[in-house]
Amino acid sequence: MKKFLFAIIFIAMFLSQAKFIFAKDQTIRIGLESQKDMVIKNKKIYIGIKDKFIDCSIETKTNFKINMLDGFYLKLGKTFSSYKDVLQAKKELAKNNLRAMIYVNDVDLFFLCTERKETPILNQDDEIINANGKKMFCIDNGEDVILLDCDNLKIKTESDGLIELGNRKYCGDLEFNYDVEKKKIIAINNLDFDKYLSCVLGTEMPFNWHKEAVKSQAIVLRTYLTKKIKNKPHKNYDLCDCGHCQIYKGFDKNFCGLEKIIKETNDLCIYYGDDLIDAVFFSSSGGATENSENVWGNKVDYLRSKKNDLNLMEENKIWSHEFLGSQIKKMLAQKNIDIGNITECKILENAPSGRVNKLLLVGTLGEKILVKEEIRNFFKLENGQILESRMFDLKTQNFLDENNELDCVIKIFGKGYGHGVGMSQFGAKFLAESGFKFDEIIKYYYSGVQIKSRRQKPAAFFYAIKIYATYENCF
Ligand SMILES: [Zn+2]
Repeated sequence: MKKFLFAIIFIAMFLSQAKFIFAKDQTIRIGLESQKDMVIKNKKIYIGIKDKFIDCSIETKTNFKINMLDGFYLKLGKTFSSYKDVLQAKKELAKNNLRAMIYVNDVDLFFLCTERKETPILNQDDEIINANGKKMFCIDNGEDVILLDCDNLKIKTESDGLIELGNRKYCGDLEFNYDVEKKKIIAINNLDFDKYLSCVLGTEMPFNWHKEAVKSQAIVLRTYLTKKIKNKPHKNYDLCDCGHCQIYKGFDKNFCGLEKIIKETNDLCIYYGDDLIDAVFFSSSGGATENSENVWGNKVDYLRSKKNDLNLMEENKIWSHEFLGSQIKKMLAQKNIDIGNITECKILENAPSGRVNKLLLVGTLGEKILVKEEIRNFFKLENGQILESRMFDLKTQNFLDENNELDCVIKIFGKGYGHGVGMSQFGAKFLAESGFKFDEIIKYYYSGVQIKSRRQKPAAFFYAIKIYATYENCF
């Protein structure tokens, strides 16, 4: 009896973990918030509602435009069971100069309809579509207009084909939803997580860099994205395609090689204890990475400053800028701060890494202290970007302006690019070229971490085996 009970517990524990053992590739949903016009450039697509697709492809000589329509539509004639038949009926009507639209109620039901601007006076046999006047999807291929009254419009192309939306190409399929809050259509790209990861990896690090550096970046990105998804930043999709979550520009054929590298890193993520780390990274350190508390305020045990003793010439990316006192006065005015004409700029405190932690701006009417990342965000560059890094030194030179008033020019000489916390991409490149393996690079930049599969280990399953092994003789 005891043996029987144990067997039941054993099987239950195994099944509860089995989904992790046999888990298939994960699909991810990316909200393409950066896409403005819903224009699909493929010449042939398949339309579906939810996951059910229309029986034949829909073609265009130009492109497909997806819009929202409201208004009332009147059903014309009979119902068809296939898209081919309804298209044929539409052609017949066109011979008599009757322009009709194709209505898809679901993928098993098609008919033709015409628009009515106002509530129509109905004949006995008339059937009205969209009587409640709510918004409907409309797909226009230049010749036909297809109406759908469903929010879950899906579009795919031939198997493994790319869908071209705007000027970007996407793997997987596209879903279109009307976002009530944003009052616009949002396209969602559904695709395999690893495919997505290869697209993002391709834009984050040049794919021809040393393989061990690219591998470390793949694991860092997988960790970063997995953690981000868990925090559920969006209601209708996992992540957006903007800087808010992760910049995603779709697929490029050059990324194909990266899929192999991603497979080689085999679902690995970075953990501190049992938790996924905040796998932050940046471009180049300028000599040393930074403690997290010197950038974002909170001390994180694995995000510690690391000196790069290697001769990293590229890592020390050098830059310089000049700001006039009058420019700084304007920047302060945008923050509703007035300290008069700027006469001096002084570094008050450096972090042990060398980054500027406190910066003093002196004016004729007062002073202003900028701290940590506030400093980078304050100095807006001509290209609209913020200051490259806080690894800088500066000089102030005073002069008298045309009104004989004291002005100054502040010259900033810096190195490195980015916030400085976590993995430096240029640093990873040089470590890889110096013989470091991907795990050594990751452990160099993130202190005390482990690298393991993100699919949960079937702990209960192994625990059950352990109990059985221990107590086998008792049963
Ligand atoms: Zn987002």
